[in-house]
Amino acid sequence: MKTIGHLIAGSAAPAAAQRFGDVFDPNAGVVQARVALGDAAALEAAVAAARAAQPAWAATNPQRRARVMFAFKALVEKNMDQLAHMLSSEHGKVIADAKGDIQRGLEVIEFACGVPHLLKGEYTQGAGPGIDVYSMRVPLGIGAGITPFNFPAMIPMWMFGVAIACGNAFILKPSERDPSVPVRLAELMLEAGAPEGILQVVHGDKEMVDAILDHPEIGAVSFVGSSDIAHYVYSRGVAAGKRVQAMGGAKNHGVVMPDADLDQVVKELAGAAFGSAGERCMALPVVVPVGEKTANALRDKLIPAIAALRIGVSTDPDADYGPVVNAAHKARVEGWIQTGVDEGAELVVDGRGFALQGHEKGFFIGPTLFDRVKPSMQSYKEEIFGPVLQIVRAESFEEALELPTKHQYGNGVALFTRNGHAAREFAARVNVGMVGINVPIPVPVAYHSFGGWKRSAFGDHNQHGMEGVRFWTRVKTITQRWPDGSAEGGNAFVIPTMG
Ligand code: NAD
Repeated sequence: MKTIGHLIAGSAAPAAAQRFGDVFDPNAGVVQARVALGDAAALEAAVAAARAAQPAWAATNPQRRARVMFAFKALVEKNMDQLAHMLSSEHGKVIADAKGDIQRGLEVIEFACGVPHLLKGEYTQGAGPGIDVYSMRVPLGIGAGITPFNFPAMIPMWMFGVAIACGNAFILKPSERDPSVPVRLAELMLEAGAPEGILQVVHGDKEMVDAILDHPEIGAVSFVGSSDIAHYVYSRGVAAGKRVQAMGGAKNHGVVMPDADLDQVVKELAGAAFGSAGERCMALPVVVPVGEKTANALRDKLIPAIAALRIGVSTDPDADYGPVVNAAHKARVEGWIQTGVDEGAELVVDGRGFALQGHEKGFFIGPTLFDRVKPSMQSYKEEIFGPVLQIVRAESFEEALELPTKHQYGNGVALFTRNGHAAREFAARVNVGMVGINVPIPVPVAYHSFGGWKRSAFGDHNQHGMEGVRFWTRVKTITQRWPDGSAEGGNAFVIPTMG
């Protein structure tokens, strides 16, 4: 069986690991490879290579660093088909969606290609007598990224694209459930001209994560995953004196006003709720129609739209979505469906027990629809992360606005309406980090920044855009004077002012 190992100091590290994790083929429901679960010793080897490479990389002028990013982008594009198939075969998302995952990451690489401009500092001439002040952004040194299974290309690129362009060395600890694409991306970075040690991949689980969090030479950690672990990573990393950004889980709501174009909404909802089998932190698993009439009409249109969805193996070009990532996750999602039933929600379409002919062991779940879900229900409060859509009926705009605002998660939210005033009010008042107006999945473009609020993100900076540049650099400010000997000295015992 194939073993997926670390990529340290420019080459595949020998499989010295004592422990391994299973990597499944979710279409067939069988183990297809094993991945090394590394320890502190593997991390130490990566840190040593990063330490050796980073100073020269930081001293390489930003235009040359940008050229490596341009070359990397071209190589990823050239290898798009291979990467998309590799991604799809471990994750289970359909090929077109796997290409979208890679493309959204590449957009951050395109942003990072502008690093010479992004790192320009600030300068004040004559801030005092003969005094000039300038500020510059300098890299932190060695950074690390810990990423989730659901975007194995995009999320690593969010992080290492900006970190490396800014002059850092980067150690990636990808999800152990779909680890192959991150390794391939690191190989392509080497091919693009990044020095050995600038992008490395170490695999593992909690043991490796803890080693990263405790390592004194890693200055910053970027994490994306579920909220409890995000909070743990944030707390432990900050306690160790690191800069940490930790993105967590989500439960995004789509509020549908009575004036919305329901046919359009249903089309958008089907993709946003069930695309990638609902395994997206920006999926829309909750829909909130305003008024009984809207709710009934929406439900009537959703039922046939759901019946028309095609679930297939991830290589089926006609499939709308494929299997979930593994058996444990399938059982977890189906457990939440049962909880919804037990709590008294109305199960309109039940996706449990779905079997794809010829792939009966695959981790498939049919689309599921609940109506009359109440905010007090546990299945509403928690993230399900599967192809399950919940209708929560609201009587008024105010009641609908309150739902995402009071929810523990605050990643994304969408409003569907033709009313500009309602849209403006909603965007201003909702207590959520990313808002879509007639846009179901409002993932910001690469040159803006991605980040939720409340339990969807811990730490101060968002991913990519200028927030990413701020996260991966720190500011040094120089105040300088070049005396010519003629100036009269002030009182050296008084705090200097520019007065
Ligand atoms: P996860 O939290 O299980 O794993 C994320 C990372 O943490 C992995 O690299 C994993 O190896 C590591 N990890 C797992 N258990 C750990 C432990 N006990 N201690 C330390 N590290 C541990 O998340 P997942 O299932 O891979 O991904 C899905 C989750 O990620 C969902 O909650 C989803 O909403 C969230 N997500 C959030 C965003 C965002 O930007 N907010 C984006 C994508 C996914």
